[in-house]
Amino acid sequence: STPFFDAVIIGAGAAGLFCAAQAGQRGLKVLLVDHADKVAEKVRISGGGRCNFTNRDLDVRAPHKHFVGQNAQFCRSALSRYTPADFIALVERHGIAYHEKHKGQLFADRSAEDIIAMLLAECAQGRVERWQPCSVKNVVFLADEAGGTSAGSYQIDTDRGPVQGRSLVVATGGLSIPKIGATDFGYRLAQQFGLPLVAQRPGLVPLTFDGQAWAPYAQLAGLALPVEISTGAKKERMAFVEDLLFTHRGLSGPAVLQISSYWQPGTPLAINLAPGVDLPAALAQAKVRSRKLIANELAALVPSRLADAWASQSADWQRPINEAADKALARLAERLARWELTPTGTEGYKKAEVTLGGVDTRALSQQTMECKAQPGLYFIGEVVDITGWLGGYNFQWAWASAHACAQALPLH
Ligand code: FAD
Repeated sequence: STPFFDAVIIGAGAAGLFCAAQAGQRGLKVLLVDHADKVAEKVRISGGGRCNFTNRDLDVRAPHKHFVGQNAQFCRSALSRYTPADFIALVERHGIAYHEKHKGQLFADRSAEDIIAMLLAECAQGRVERWQPCSVKNVVFLADEAGGTSAGSYQIDTDRGPVQGRSLVVATGGLSIPKIGATDFGYRLAQQFGLPLVAQRPGLVPLTFDGQAWAPYAQLAGLALPVEISTGAKKERMAFVEDLLFTHRGLSGPAVLQISSYWQPGTPLAINLAPGVDLPAALAQAKVRSRKLIANELAALVPSRLADAWASQSADWQRPINEAADKALARLAERLARWELTPTGTEGYKKAEVTLGGVDTRALSQQTMECKAQPGLYFIGEVVDITGWLGGYNFQWAWASAHACAQALPLH
């Protein structure tokens, strides 16, 4: 006869593993299924191999500030019930050494493998059964035979045969990095059950520019510097102060990854290449005391490669600073402090760290992650239309949404 589980969880990534462990430890009989050869591959490659597993700066009173989605408020309930401190305590219980890098970002000292080993140990403690690699072919909802008030169950056809689950948890993540197993399975399953989706697009992703227009900047490839980057007008405006990296094709670095999740195609970005520097005043002062080339004076204020590239953009700027017109210096200052440019696109899912959009949160309970109109079906992690900032927020969402679900899954 068909094996029966209290919960079948599809996707053994961050959210799936954590949910399975917690549910198992509550006494549920749990099956975790993943089609990839290796468990939690995205955790393995995360944070440059050290897994930025949470962020201490997450504001537990207003956690949604660090998240993007049509209704970012949705994530508050789960994030305030399972906080970074809770996950840090777990990491400490497992004796994993970690450190803070930048803006509250916590990384494993040794390797992301330590976090994976911790998740697997937690699953073992919950007696979780894991089938991997194992693909899922088909899912059907079996309504309760008696037609009574109790919920039905789910039949899941896998390549190891059919199984039944009282609850079905979808933790198949987003579309980023298809070569390590990302699929649109979760979105298709949502559609099968009539759930609304928010259109998906790559997030935390480098931005690209038209080849010709980019040519003057291509020489700056490899240059990194702190900037203020912003997008959107007025109330919609979003800004980050972070490092920018010039690449051969366009722009990357934390500043650009962060803004990419807010950037709307066709709209410009504004970049202040010298935040915290009063450029008009500094250039005016230099004009009074110096006879050096503008580029040389500028090199005291911004990286010299940038100074050279900028000064070479106009004949007015290729002269000794004492001979420059006040207007020309003002224009130069303005162009550095407000460099406006419109990306042509992104580097796509091959390079994106996350997927924006996903299962529309209006279809889910924020307490449990269960579908309001489909009892026993849950969505957790990145497949939901909640996307965190760079810096450990996406894993914190995976842990917190998994926890909310695991606490709510019915026992037997
Ligand atoms: P995933 O961890 O992606 O897990 C989904 C699982 O579902 C996978 O194991 C996959 O094989 C499986 N699956 C997919 N389709 C199917 C199917 N059809 N059948 C069966 N199984 C299926 N976030 C941070 O917070 N900190 C970081 O340092 C960080 N670094 C990152 C670095 C990179 C390069 C990338 C790409 C992402 C990074 N992220 C980081 C984002 C983070 O990895 C994800 O947000 C997080 O893994 C999402 O967890 P999840 O469980 O929802 O999905």
